[in-house]
Amino acid sequence: MAKIRDLLAAGRTFSFEFFPPKTDEAERQLEKALRELEPLGPSFVSVTYGAGGSTRERTHDIVVHINDDMSLTAMAHLTCACHTRAELTEVIQHYGAAGIENILALGGDPPRDLEDPPPTELAYANELVELVQQLDGFSVGVAAHPEGHPKSPDLDSDRHWTAEKLKGADFAITQFFFDSSAYYRLVEGLSALGVDKPVIPGIMPVTNVRSVQRMAELSGAAFPADLADRIFAVEDDAEAVRQIGVEVSTQMCADLLAEGAPGLHFYTLNRSTATREIYENLGLGRGPAA
Ligand SMILES: Cc1cc2nc3c(=O)[nH]c(=O)nc-3n(C[C@H](O)[C@H](O)[C@H](O)COP(=O)(O)OP(=O)(O)OC[C@H]3O[C@@H](n4cnc5c(N)ncnc54)[C@H](O)[C@@H]3O)c2cc1C
Repeated sequence: MAKIRDLLAAGRTFSFEFFPPKTDEAERQLEKALRELEPLGPSFVSVTYGAGGSTRERTHDIVVHINDDMSLTAMAHLTCACHTRAELTEVIQHYGAAGIENILALGGDPPRDLEDPPPTELAYANELVELVQQLDGFSVGVAAHPEGHPKSPDLDSDRHWTAEKLKGADFAITQFFFDSSAYYRLVEGLSALGVDKPVIPGIMPVTNVRSVQRMAELSGAAFPADLADRIFAVEDDAEAVRQIGVEVSTQMCADLLAEGAPGLHFYTLNRSTATREIYENLGLGRGPAA
């Protein structure tokens, strides 16, 4: 295991994000993706946390499985939403006891399908950052939103609060974006507020146009018209869509690295092919298996 703070101090990090599966079949798919991506030697991998949902314990189990059974450093996502301070303390202590040293501290959102969600005691991610730091022994990351968090009244306010929480944390990982100027503006904006901690860009390869468009709508990421046009022109050809997605992401990743990004964090959606192809195109790893 390693602390992400130390990995970033030593050089760039390349990381993959997964989510906890809900069915046995999805669990097999996750295991397959993990095994296929492990040989690329990522700096770390992370597992998301479903606030108030049925997959909460699964995040813990998958993170511990990755840590114990694979040659990978794991980071657990954790949200304030639907938890008391005491519950969060217990979850963090469990991670510590299991040898997990990295936590991504998030505000989170209560699930929409829960009529009566459990109460939330910590209002914002910065309070969870403080809690994790008090418990000692962890490297703590936070989320950053290049185009602003959808609930923020304006970009300046979002930048202000992102800078405040990042002061107490070690690094940030961004929401995905398709226009890298949004990422550069975020980094410049934080720097102007006196915060120069590493901000790792989040990369979402477009492999399925409708699902990515839906996620972009939810997260507030602009989906550029020229990219949409190219993809909709081949909408019925899944392989052609994937190829465009890989090509566009590869170019964006190359630009980000050339401009000095401290790493790349891939949203894998529990699949390995697009990430492996981008990796190979960038000359970073072994690439897709034959
Ligand atoms: C890399 C990444 C990973 C993610 N992983 C998960 C996951 O595993 N599970 C999940 O449920 N969600 C996840 N999310 C989504 C995230 O939980 C949501 O975007 C959530 O709505 C906000 O979380 P946050 O940590 O960015 O929020 P916060 O930092 O809490 O901010 C939320 C809003 O409040 C404002 N704000 C922040 N602090 C203050 C303050 N002190 N006073 C007033 N206003 C404030 C911010 O500007 C923003 O508008 C992830 C997002 C990213 C980018």
